[in-house]
This record gives sequence, C-alpha cells and structure tokens, in this order.
Amino acid sequence: MGSVNGWTSLQGKKPLFSFGVISDVQHADIPDGRSFLGVPRYYRHSIAVLQRAVKQWNHHGNLKFTVNLGDIVDGFCPKEHSLDTVSRVVNEFEKFNGPVYHMIGNHCLYNLPRSKLLPLLKIPSIDGCAYYDFSPTSEYRIVVLDGYDISAIGWPRDHPKTQQALKFLQDQNPNLDKNSPAGLAGIERRFLMFNGAVGEEQLRWLDSVLRDATNLKQKVVVCCHLPLDPGASSAEALLWNFDEVMALIHKYDCVKVCLAGHDHKGGHSIDSHGVHHKVFEAALECPPGTDAYGYIDVYDDRLSLFGTGKMENCDMHFNL
Ligand SMILES: [Zn+2]
Repeated sequence: MGSVNGWTSLQGKKPLFSFGVISDVQHADIPDGRSFLGVPRYYRHSIAVLQRAVKQWNHHGNLKFTVNLGDIVDGFCPKEHSLDTVSRVVNEFEKFNGPVYHMIGNHCLYNLPRSKLLPLLKIPSIDGCAYYDFSPTSEYRIVVLDGYDISAIGWPRDHPKTQQALKFLQDQNPNLDKNSPAGLAGIERRFLMFNGAVGEEQLRWLDSVLRDATNLKQKVVVCCHLPLDPGASSAEALLWNFDEVMALIHKYDCVKVCLAGHDHKGGHSIDSHGVHHKVFEAALECPPGTDAYGYIDVYDDRLSLFGTGKMENCDMHFNL
C-alpha cells in the first residue's frame, strides 16, 4: 500500500482529487463455495472486506467519493433474503463519509429486478436504465455505463430488451446452456447469458457526453461492470459490444481510463489508442483476513491506484 504523503512528495504534486474503489463484494450468508473454474469464493467474509475498505476510506480523510464496480450480492443468495442482503451491503457502503456511486452487475440482477435495485442503490434512472455521469471537478468527468442495458437478466421476461438479448444469444451461442462458451473461439467466448450490451440509446447518450466533455476540455474515466478491452480481461467476461463502445470512445481524445469489475482475477492493459483499462480484483475471492480494495489519486496526466491486499497498485499515465 503506497503512502499518500510519500507519493505526493516524490512527485511534488497533490492529486486533483481521490476516490475509493471496490468490486464484486458478492456477499451472501451462505457457506464458502467455488466458481465454475474451481476458484474459492468467500461469501460471508466478503462483507468484512467491504467493512475494512470503508474504514480505510474514512481514515484517508480526503476521498471525494467511492465507486462500487458492481455485484454486491451473490446469485446463490436465497431469494427470500435478497432484499435484506442488498440492504445490509448498501448499509455498509453508507458508513463511508461521502457519496457512493454504484453500478449494477449480473449477480445484483439475479436477486432483484431493476425496479427494486436501482432505488436501493440510489442510481439515477430513466426507464429502468442505470447509466449516468458526474463531474467531481471541472477537469474531470466520470461516466458510468449500464452493461446490462441489453440483457436476458434483470428486465421483465416480456420486455423488448430481454427479447433482443435472447435473440442475440440464440444467433451467437450454439449451446443449449447460454452460459457455456463451449465451441466459441477467442473473443466470441463473451457471448454468454451472464454478460450484456450497451444499447443504441445509451450509445447516443455516451456520444453526447463525450462530445460535451471534449468541448469542456475534461478528461473522462469510464466505469462499467463489464470490461471493455480483451487485453485486460478474460474473453468470457467482456461486454458483448465492447468493440462498438470502444470505437465510439476512440473517436474522441477525452477518455483516458476505463475501470471495470466482473473478471475476478483483475487485469490491466493499455489499448492501441493509449487508453488504460483496469479490471479490479474481487473482494469475494479474498480468503478470511485478506483484502481487495483501494483508492485512486487523480492528476492531470495520470491516475494512481493504491491497492490493499489482492488489489494491485497500478500507475496509469496518459498523454495530454
Ligand atoms: Zn459480474
């Protein structure tokens, strides 16, 4: 864990602002288990990781806000406990002395419909969508994408977006179990039911936000539960239309960093346009006593992540 003071004096510069980060808490009051690949999951302990994260963020004393990259509750949580469990985790986040910006993940949507989830997470919403942006200082804009805009989970069964997603999976994934990537090659392995896409209207909105940020000479950090670059993530965890979203992002110069969760092992890459992609290590996969959370110092030419435990430090320099 880096020292704020040490880093500041080393660089001779104070950050413009700092914010806390955590991803994939995936809490549930159930015994420990394993992912389909056999990676251990500590469902009960993950809320203790969040509690220690909030303690660190408050102790830091100078974090402007915190970002939760999604999946706060696990899909195995018994459905009669979904509401309680989400409320318990939200309650822990609310002990942070500042605003918390949430994203929704597939596991959140296995538990609660958007109509219940979004108000609990205080996500500003039009027509049940969960994308929004905010500007913590005049120099920066944070954009939160809804990666499950087009998805077979979270919308009512007869919703046009559910139908669109099911048709898409039918066309792209030959397996009966649409969560199986068997027979799919390379980045096609992302065409799974537990992923989703950014829809047309959200793409138009993103275009207008990036245009506005460019006019205002703001730098942009894009946050999405689903990763947007194959270099930073397993193919199986990518947003269905990451290529379309990145083509739009690359039209502009303003996006410097993309942050994501969902792919629990974490990762980092710099794409062909110099945009950094950081995928955060999951709180869920921390054995008792270990951690995965951190905070990011934001400067005009870089973001510096100071991670605790499994969350690795990451220096993200970019051209101005
Ligand atoms: Zn997820």
